[in-house]
Amino acid sequence: MSSDEHSELTFASRTVSAKFIDPAGQLVERPVEIRTHPISGRTCRIAFSRIKEKETGTDALPPPPPDAGDTSKCPFCRPQVNSQTPQLNPDLTNEARLTRKDSLLFPNLFPYGSYSAVSLFDNDHFVEIGKASHSSYTDSFLNCCRYLARVIDHDPQAVYMAITQNHLPSAGGSLIHPHLQINADRVAANHHRFLLERAYTFYQHNGDFLFSTYLGHEKKDGSRYIGKTGSWEWVAAFAPEGFFEIWGILPRTTSLQQPAVSDWEDLVQGILNIQRLYRSINRNGYNLGLLSVEVPASRLELRIVIVVRSNYAPWVRSDHTGFEIMLGDMTTFVAPEQTAEWARRFFS
Ligand SMILES: [Zn+2]
Repeated sequence: MSSDEHSELTFASRTVSAKFIDPAGQLVERPVEIRTHPISGRTCRIAFSRIKEKETGTDALPPPPPDAGDTSKCPFCRPQVNSQTPQLNPDLTNEARLTRKDSLLFPNLFPYGSYSAVSLFDNDHFVEIGKASHSSYTDSFLNCCRYLARVIDHDPQAVYMAITQNHLPSAGGSLIHPHLQINADRVAANHHRFLLERAYTFYQHNGDFLFSTYLGHEKKDGSRYIGKTGSWEWVAAFAPEGFFEIWGILPRTTSLQQPAVSDWEDLVQGILNIQRLYRSINRNGYNLGLLSVEVPASRLELRIVIVVRSNYAPWVRSDHTGFEIMLGDMTTFVAPEQTAEWARRFFS
């Protein structure tokens, strides 16, 4: 992006079309919309005609995974969780594992970075999409924040933080027992590095926050705005980089330590509303993520991103094809405005 583009938010879109003679002998045109992501400048595509392509495993919500009823081999189930999971570095805290009511947090046995942890919801081994208990989900988030507060106390340079979730193996989840993942490091991930700079430059040029400005545009436009849960505001992403991508924005909040308990409750309400939308269209896998850079100068506001992943069901194909991996443009099939329309009824 040029420096001009860094100072603006542009919602750009163009349509190309593919012309061919269909199997019935008719000359047809199939439109493909190419949108430019207002934040990243990356293009994505909405290939409307592919909605008619038969997607395997979406006629009904797929059945639970085969190990959904087997708690005996799960390292996250009680009582074995206390013998099969690691304990926190005593330099961070004198507690072996952090608790918040029934939520339990401990280090990731297979870490992704310097501070890599897992926060269980509770002792329920398998929870279907949209069916998690509101309080246990909230407790798990609050436990993440407690952990991250200790990390920053211990290592003030480990400012690049994230809370993520992989629901089911199709979304990258290795254990089905519901949990959030927490990461903090001194080294930025790509999205941290890009978003921190983008939000900072935008603020310098415009004297306002990037995601708040984005949200202001979307509220005025209305076609992708979904609704509110408390102070969190929800929109379908203008240029989705995942299927049925929805964002929740907490305006003018730049640190994971700022939100009140009630804000975390409101966040979880929005997440569950979206999961009920996904469930209503027979999708069972999703990723979500919330990033922050914990420096006083950060202008990067809290934004949670939620996307559907390919269903976890036999012989379902991946949602990342050669087009996404090799060309770098995500191709979805449903207009974000349609996603927003479907989502609104779960927010009323
Ligand atoms: Zn379990």
